[in-house]
Amino acid sequence: RIILGLESSCDETAAALVTSDRQVLSHRLLGQEAAHAPFGGVVPEIAARAHVEALEPLVRAALADAGLRLDQVDAIAATAGPGLIGGVMVGLVTGKALAHAAGKPLIAVNHLEGHALSPRLSDPDLAFPYLLLLVSGGHCQLLLVKGVARYSRLATTIDDAAGEAFDKTAKLLGLGFPGGPMVEKAAALGRPVVPLPRPLKGSAEPHFSFAGLKSAVARAVGQHAPEDIAASFQAAVVDCLIDRTRRGIAGIDATALVVAGGVAANTAVRGALQALATANGLRFVAPPLWLCTDNAAMIAWAGAERFAAGLTDPLDTPARARWPLDPDAEAVRGAGV
Ligand code: ATP
Ligand code: MG
Ligand code: FE
Repeated sequence: RIILGLESSCDETAAALVTSDRQVLSHRLLGQEAAHAPFGGVVPEIAARAHVEALEPLVRAALADAGLRLDQVDAIAATAGPGLIGGVMVGLVTGKALAHAAGKPLIAVNHLEGHALSPRLSDPDLAFPYLLLLVSGGHCQLLLVKGVARYSRLATTIDDAAGEAFDKTAKLLGLGFPGGPMVEKAAALGRPVVPLPRPLKGSAEPHFSFAGLKSAVARAVGQHAPEDIAASFQAAVVDCLIDRTRRGIAGIDATALVVAGGVAANTAVRGALQALATANGLRFVAPPLWLCTDNAAMIAWAGAERFAAGLTDPLDTPARARWPLDPDAEAVRGAGV
């Protein structure tokens, strides 16, 4: 089976063709960094317009790269949320139009499910259930991935997401946008000598928190070298992620510790999680860097997994700005799903 995947939920427009036996036939991606950089963050209206312009040519290019015509595709998977609603609508409407034109099924993919299943695209041996640390620009969650469409949320952030903390720190340090890779680069040149808090470290509750860390970074600006602040910030984030994940490992039955989402591209984060997994006798699985940050191959792959499970969606499926992976999880102090 060949699945065409479309992604447009934030500031990456992407199209990819992936087979149900894990071959990435093609993947195309167009970032919008230059368009948003002057504003220091993603501007929803600019993003939606850019997706409109970029998506169709990217689909054509992905098909051409794979040497395929649309009618040779078995299903079309598009991100249907969560994300910036204008962008999500562009991708979902395009997916519906292609599905209708080609007479193929539509698969409405939750962007977080794309991240959550992406490690199974790169690692054929990764079996359910696994403990997933999902760390991205908008989310920081521990999930028990029990199967396709079966997710239990064990913990979430009570304020900022991990990637958001990286992006805000980059802004405070004047490192530019997007922040994560910039902070990682600066951190490599600094020493972790700035005392910064580790919110919720050692707490009996399972959740994450990064807002206090960001405030402490703001106070340290001007008092220390930016590289030292970056190194100290990254060390604090790693510390918090490890402490919270260690707590999550206790009491669950999983085959592996898995990380996904944009922050999973961070070398320090990956290294510390690898060590934690080893210490707990768990396999550690992290997708290659290009599959951590937003892309369409993970959407096509989630589509392939859903298609194999018999899950397709009607053409009137709505786009959703918010869409929790685990609908049973309670909101935490009103914070993000
Ligand atoms: P979500 O998936 O929650 O809807 P998103 O799609 O915007 O949000 P991703 O594309 O998965 O998020 O990840 C982007 C985030 O990852 C950004 O916050 C970015 O700063 C962060 N990030 C990317 N590379 C790195 C890195 N090397 N180190 C730390 N953070 C990184
Ligand atoms: Mg992005
Ligand atoms: Fe994402």
